[in-house]
Amino acid sequence: MSDLKLLINGNLVSGERQIDVVNPATEKVFLQSPVASIRQAELAIASAKEAFPSWSQTPLNERQKKLNLLADKIRSNANELATALVKEQGKPLQEAAAEVLYTEAFMRYFASHSLKSELVQDDEDYQIEMHYKPLGVVVGIAPWNLPLLIGLNKVGPAVVTGNTVILKPAPSTPVTTLMIGAMAQEIFPPGVINIITDKNDLGAYLTGHPDVAKVSFTGSTATGKKVAQSALSSLKRLTLELGGNDAGIVLDDVDVTAVAEKIFAGSFMNCGQVCIALKRLYVHESQYDEMCNALADLAEQTDVGDGMRNGVQIGPLQNEMQYRKALDFMEIGRRDGNIIAGGTVPEYPGFFITPTIVRDIDDASVLVNQEQFAPILPIIKYSEIDEVIQRANHSEYGLGGSVWSSNIDRAKAVAAKIDSGTVWINHHLHFGPNIPFCGAKESGLGVEFSREGIAEFTQRSVISVAK
Ligand code: NAD
Repeated sequence: MSDLKLLINGNLVSGERQIDVVNPATEKVFLQSPVASIRQAELAIASAKEAFPSWSQTPLNERQKKLNLLADKIRSNANELATALVKEQGKPLQEAAAEVLYTEAFMRYFASHSLKSELVQDDEDYQIEMHYKPLGVVVGIAPWNLPLLIGLNKVGPAVVTGNTVILKPAPSTPVTTLMIGAMAQEIFPPGVINIITDKNDLGAYLTGHPDVAKVSFTGSTATGKKVAQSALSSLKRLTLELGGNDAGIVLDDVDVTAVAEKIFAGSFMNCGQVCIALKRLYVHESQYDEMCNALADLAEQTDVGDGMRNGVQIGPLQNEMQYRKALDFMEIGRRDGNIIAGGTVPEYPGFFITPTIVRDIDDASVLVNQEQFAPILPIIKYSEIDEVIQRANHSEYGLGGSVWSSNIDRAKAVAAKIDSGTVWINHHLHFGPNIPFCGAKESGLGVEFSREGIAEFTQRSVISVAK
């Protein structure tokens, strides 16, 4: 972890610039990360371009083997990666360990997949096949909330389908991504995987570069729109996974005690900093008080602190800017509703706020109608099911959502009316490499994971033979 390098053209190199990496649990700089210059970004793109012809012709089983070797290295360095993840990102060690495990599992899934050509038509007139060809140079850009998993989920499908890639993590979480660079350097031919970091200033350069064929971006909707604009000049292929404001709708027939814990976990994982976290909870008036009290109890019992300490369940916000935003949202909650748990800032250093439950609040509050990305859950009362569906859908976002009920058919009927990429029933936040992941409306463009997501890293190409 101490000697971080960029990976450019198969070489581990120092950055021409540097950045302080802050541990959000202490607010102290814990190491310096190399940062690429524009010249180094250009070199990374040039080396990916140069490596493409040979890598795209490398047999699929060889590419799969190399991705599996990377998964092996992730496993054998799992403890070190998890510890580094806690320090750079802030999440509790068990969540960091889970992110590492997930990353390994996703890589193995991508490595096991092959997009075979398909026979579209075969009759006396024509034989028509559809093939999947790699696109060329792919740029992957990741945010700071799940830096390892989200970053690698761009690299895995890109390289297994025969593309070469440049991955750029967020400036505040470069560490684990650069550690992966050192592992990839021992496995992949020069230029196939390049890893560079920035000071939030290379994204536009990378996504607008004429030699880049595809951008896979995860981050905020505002930045996603900029990415789309800069990709437009050469009509690059785009996958955008953006913001969300997931609604949870609790029908009037739940066992409150049984579901409250799951709702709490779906909302407060990673300190609420998950695109698909449950960010606003609608509860039927008949169970409103009971649910508010159950969630407030859970919030009060939560152990908040440095993710390296045993037993901690919620760490700090990842960076100072997000922390300031969270404090603003907390004050909005105080102004627009009643805080019944949390709402305080611990006296020790770190970007901490206590998990906060806000009741007696309505949709007009920005804590409800915007993405808070913080450990603050607004609970809103409703009386009519049709009306609450409308309110849940009244958002520019459409990433996830959940319905909670003891009657699955009833829940499914509601789920079918929610305008989002995923709707969970009696859980929230579950995702996996085999499950298509996508955002509706301004939550994204395209699909990640699954066969469909992998295919987004390819060009469909039809060969039509006249008989
Ligand atoms: P962000 O948009 O500020 O930054 C994301 C990445 O984009 C960073 O690496 C950043 O350096 C880079 N970037 C900044 N300006 C750029 C530009 N002009 N062109 C290209 N890249 C640029 O987002 P964030 O604050 O790091 O992450 C939080 C947001 O990400 C939230 O809105 C969250 O919902 C969203 N998110 C979405 C998903 C998903 O899968 N849908 C997953 C995680 C996070």
